[in-house]
Amino acid sequence: MDIDYLLTTSDPVAVQDLFDEAARLRDEVYGRRIFIRGLIEITNHCRNNCLYCGIRRDVKTQRYRLSKEQILDCCRTGHALGFRTFVLQGGEDAWFTDDVVCDIVSAIKGEFPDCAVTLSLGERGRESFTRLREAGADRYLLRHETADANHYAHLHPAEMSFEHRMQCLHDLRDLGFQVGAGFMVGSPGQTLETLKKDLDFIADFRPEMVGIGPFIPAAGTPFEKHPAGSVELTLRLLAIIRILHPHVLLPATTALGTLHPQGRERAINAGANVVMPNLSPQDTRALYSIYNNKLSTHSEAAETVADTRARLKAIGFDIPVDRGDFSKLKIEN
Ligand code: SF4
Repeated sequence: MDIDYLLTTSDPVAVQDLFDEAARLRDEVYGRRIFIRGLIEITNHCRNNCLYCGIRRDVKTQRYRLSKEQILDCCRTGHALGFRTFVLQGGEDAWFTDDVVCDIVSAIKGEFPDCAVTLSLGERGRESFTRLREAGADRYLLRHETADANHYAHLHPAEMSFEHRMQCLHDLRDLGFQVGAGFMVGSPGQTLETLKKDLDFIADFRPEMVGIGPFIPAAGTPFEKHPAGSVELTLRLLAIIRILHPHVLLPATTALGTLHPQGRERAINAGANVVMPNLSPQDTRALYSIYNNKLSTHSEAAETVADTRARLKAIGFDIPVDRGDFSKLKIEN
């Protein structure tokens, strides 16, 4: 595959062929099925100051945390709507100690033994990851953001390190988590060369999940005036990732839906196979403003799911009641 060409060509036939091949491979591994994950944004407190993030430490915003009971209520709503994966996402919030998170994970697994629990709570130590895994967490999302150390330093404050981010991903893998990595498309300082390093990293590490979406500037951050990333380039990268790693679980991200009304459908047609509707309580959704104008902050969970089902059905896909685990199916590639 000539990645340089595919990322830069203006030939619409070549781009459509790329999307078609990615969709074919996705169908071969997973069929015409799109998995849903219920996203629960459990805290917008964060000790970090990532330069691109709308809930970074220095942004003056109203902060919140969900209680265990609120989180379980979100899961109850989600389970009744057919969700079999819950994604607990938040900033790096010291209030969510290992004891607190383990207690929440155990409670979810106890009440919903048919469900997978995914955590996305930033960098933690290996001991912490070990405890979370032992408590029953199945998956962990930690975007690598960039596989280039200099680019990483451009996006993060000096107290954060590329090496530690990579160490976390390797620890998670060692401990038996299904691991999610990913990056923003069009982040400040990104080049064709850094993108190719991202693709090399994905081809080599083979994360079970890869979350990519266009960079969207967030008010009050050092990058608030930087232009948003390209939807078109994001779609090409999704397709290339599907071809490099056909079994990957690949979300059609909210960021794509934010920048383009058909962004998520277009992502599915370029090989994506996961959507993550928001199950967070309505009064906290607007506070989890990691970037400007984030989609779907107002509709009810049930309404969001009904809308998602209808949109996917219209382009020929079903949403099964299924955990949607990583497939180990062998395919001819
Ligand atoms: S990207 Fe994550 S770790 Fe960084 S400031 Fe935002 S919430 Fe915190």
